[in-house]
Amino acid sequence: MAAKRVAAAKVNGQTALERACGRAAAAGLTVAGRGYRKSDFALVWFIPSQHEANRWYQVTQVGAHMECACRGYRDFAQTCAHIGAVCNDLAAEARAFAAAQAAAQVASIGSARVLTADEIEQQRDTAPLARDNKPFSLFKAS
Ligand SMILES: [Zn+2]
Repeated sequence: MAAKRVAAAKVNGQTALERACGRAAAAGLTVAGRGYRKSDFALVWFIPSQHEANRWYQVTQVGAHMECACRGYRDFAQTCAHIGAVCNDLAAEARAFAAAQAAAQVASIGSARVLTADEIEQQRDTAPLARDNKPFSLFKAS
């Protein structure tokens, strides 16, 4: 059954995504693993269930939006807290990247050049993404 998508209406001045990010932060949801789906290179994140041990929900980037495998998203077309956890993680990563880039610029004062974004990413990323033929390539989130 395809759930009807609800337009991003604001409630109390917040979008559905902003509310989902708040619910994720309040529940302490964090990204347990991330990677990509090898069949189509879609980015995937795994978020542990709040209520069930040893259960993760898969959040997948599909085009410009994210989809979750949980019931709230699937049956009720809600932007769930799992998607909010991914957005919180991405926001934290963006802040860390900006801080690393600023630190690299400070460190490069007096040297020949500033590190490029790819060079900073190579220094940070140590995951063995291309070593096996499993359908997903995952590594532990920081
Ligand atoms: Zn979900």
